[in-house]
Amino acid sequence: MTDTVTRFAPSPTGFIHIGNLRTALFNWLIARKAGGTFILRLDDTDPVRSKQEYVDAIKEDLEWLGLTWDRVERQSERLDRYAAAADELRAAGRFYEAFETPTELDLKRKKQLNMGRPPVYDRAALGLDEAEKERLRAERGDGVWRFKLDQARIDWADGILGDISIDAASVSDPVLIRGDGQVLYTLASVVDDTEMGVTHVVRGSDHVTNTATQIQIMEALGQGHPSFAHHSLLTGPGGEALSKRLGTLSLRDLRAQGIEPMALLSLMARLGSSDPVELRGGLDELIEGFDVSRFGSAPTKFDAEDLKPLTARVISARPYEEMADDIRAVGVPDEIAPDFWEVVRENVATRADLAGWWELFRDGPKAVELEAEDRAFVDEAYGLLPAHPYGPETWSAWTDAVKEQTGRKGKQLFMPLRLAVTGLARGPEMAAVMPLFQVPLR
Ligand code: GLU
Repeated sequence: MTDTVTRFAPSPTGFIHIGNLRTALFNWLIARKAGGTFILRLDDTDPVRSKQEYVDAIKEDLEWLGLTWDRVERQSERLDRYAAAADELRAAGRFYEAFETPTELDLKRKKQLNMGRPPVYDRAALGLDEAEKERLRAERGDGVWRFKLDQARIDWADGILGDISIDAASVSDPVLIRGDGQVLYTLASVVDDTEMGVTHVVRGSDHVTNTATQIQIMEALGQGHPSFAHHSLLTGPGGEALSKRLGTLSLRDLRAQGIEPMALLSLMARLGSSDPVELRGGLDELIEGFDVSRFGSAPTKFDAEDLKPLTARVISARPYEEMADDIRAVGVPDEIAPDFWEVVRENVATRADLAGWWELFRDGPKAVELEAEDRAFVDEAYGLLPAHPYGPETWSAWTDAVKEQTGRKGKQLFMPLRLAVTGLARGPEMAAVMPLFQVPLR
């Protein structure tokens, strides 16, 4: 049996966003489940748009998520391999130079569309003889290199979409090398997937046509092809295209908003599949339970708001030891830090909320707005508060005394006091809250 090899292949031309994460995660889960290899491949053949700062950012984002890679490959370091493959395709008669300008191609497409035909490249360049090519080269510079598709059907069993069959005649011969010599993604990707022994490729369904052409190029190079699966694209909660909003859904933005990696991974590992989102069990459960065939082909609705309750659940499930550094960082003294965590754990939306809780306990409550009647009641109650420091018995002793003196009971008694002390209508056990105050209330 061959080892499972997958790759995540971002172009380092920007930050990675929630859509890229889905691709990265699926490929990572497949590799980890099989005990195989996960390659971070940087598709950086575009020297102008590729930037080292994005390479660093991509690595940082993946590390934050815990999506560890086994090795990094950079396409910019493999240009000789692509040149060799291009020679092979030339020798096999599957590569031809074409000289049309973008404007000419556009005109051809418009004409075809007007005639009700699909806008497929007409292969005019195949008819050029050497003298004509020389003349065009002198006039326009080097041409682009197109792969000559074999006009047959291209079939594969897609891991998500099922049986796919594409008529190669409906697809333009893809340009693999630009006029300036820059190798394009399709050729580089084919060579890498083949030479790196990639066994499974999962990517967005916007790549389906690419896959058809890549299968033929691999065959022309005498190679088999990996198994392919194309996941649906993400849409916003109302089904609207997400592409325009992806800028605000970069992983670094989500991180800045306090979203927890495990919340993100748990949601994205199951969203769009027939399996429920499961937080217990952590990464191991995500890996074990992952099955790409359980994802559907329909666009997948994604609502960033869903990450918030998941984040709160991830945080509240954390044992003290895992939160100790964050708790210390906001200034909570070590002696009370475990109690502090027990009290606030169910009441933090993100780690950033720890600071607010500590401020409350360190400085005492800020004045809250109360109805006049409750204000008077609270003022009276404060007069009955036992002396600081407070203990676990303080709350019941206090409320008993207040009940006795005012005659209030139940919600009428407890609610205004809870509000005055914590600023919240609902929250942690008051008996556990009181001992955390470092200063007398009032
Ligand atoms: N660099 C390509 C992209 O980001 C990779 C696609 C692929 O997985 O082959 O779209």
